[in-house]
Amino acid sequence: MPAAKWNRRPTHDTGHLPSLDVYQDLYKHFHAHPELSHLESETAARVTEELRSLGSYDIFTNIGETHGVAAVLKNGEGATVLLRADMDGLPVEEKTGLEYASKTRMRDSEGVERPTMHACGHDMHITSLLATAKLMLDAKKAWRGTLILCFQPAEEKGAGAKAMVEGNGGLYTKVPIPDVVLGAHVMPGRAGSLETKRGLVASAADSFRVTLHGRSGHGSQPHRTIDPIVMAASTVLRLQTIVSREVDPYNCPAVVTVGSIHAGDAENIIPEHAEIKLNIRTLDPETRAHVLEGTRRIINAEAMASNAPQEPELESLSNFPFLNNDDEVTTGIETTFAGIFPGRPHGYSSDGPRLGGSEDFGILATSVNRPSCFWTYGGTDPAVWDEKEKEGKLKEIPINHSSYFAPVIMPTLKVAIEGLAGGALTWLAT
Ligand SMILES: [Zn+2]
Ligand SMILES: [Zn+2]
Repeated sequence: MPAAKWNRRPTHDTGHLPSLDVYQDLYKHFHAHPELSHLESETAARVTEELRSLGSYDIFTNIGETHGVAAVLKNGEGATVLLRADMDGLPVEEKTGLEYASKTRMRDSEGVERPTMHACGHDMHITSLLATAKLMLDAKKAWRGTLILCFQPAEEKGAGAKAMVEGNGGLYTKVPIPDVVLGAHVMPGRAGSLETKRGLVASAADSFRVTLHGRSGHGSQPHRTIDPIVMAASTVLRLQTIVSREVDPYNCPAVVTVGSIHAGDAENIIPEHAEIKLNIRTLDPETRAHVLEGTRRIINAEAMASNAPQEPELESLSNFPFLNNDDEVTTGIETTFAGIFPGRPHGYSSDGPRLGGSEDFGILATSVNRPSCFWTYGGTDPAVWDEKEKEGKLKEIPINHSSYFAPVIMPTLKVAIEGLAGGALTWLAT
């Protein structure tokens, strides 16, 4: 890392914060028009249009044959910083009752029509990165170096970052390799608050679809069939023993969740197949390997115990890598954030928790062997947060992926922009 040339000062030119009215409206636009993973064409088009309207940025679209967009602003000699936002919505029906709530429905990649919602707050990420594009352009005299803005598709599938860097005409064939990669996520939390954490910030996540094969027949004659429902039930229960019996309970937390199980239609027919979908979360590579091996072993063994006519099929649905915050980069961010945000209880804290979910953001850095830092900021209306906190009911606050998850726009947007710009300026400010 070219640490010596980095200018790590807690500098932040809030005088260049753009008019947030425009960006609040833009946020409402993105919120009302979410698109599912891999289908973010309209979002990418609007992002491109907004970037073009600023001038000065070199813009690249359809990166790696995805809907990914990148913009580069070269501003003399200096470090290169990449800021990332993800763009996809989720198959969730919005129930927030907001006047700009999504009424969108989309056909997913399997052709099934789904209600669609920005239930993970990626609309806040897109909008804050566009506003940061404007801020950094207006503040051009206050910094030197190269700024890269990366608008990534399909984060929810754990596929977008990989596709952007590895696909045909991948990201780093278009833009310079950054010295530092930075990103952030809106979370439940008092709006105005912001948290970093060193080291591991997000678990690895591996998802599978498993097809169990049986032999169908009349419900009155089970002895002439092989019942895939009993096989599936037994498999689901036995899978629970990986975490409870095979993994070190003190040092290696892991999660094995079966989130979907489908088989049969009628009460008197034993079906031919059963399908389960499962999701595995682990915090270290050794446990990950063990849990994945155990999962395959149990699925095959239960099929064999049921005398299945053929081995089960495992299809990988998504893989998220571990996400690690680099110590040195995070130290730089800590210094900046401590300088530009108020401290606890309502501002910045450097000992934030790990993310509940997983993230593919890190691939943008690890694919070119560069360090990264990913932080979180709160999006809950401060009045609501304080009331729930007083009542001891913080668990009632909607979390990401809920039908009711919608950040309060201000001050969330302002903190999101200041975080991104402040993060970039940590390495770019003159
Ligand atoms: Zn999400
Ligand atoms: Zn998300």
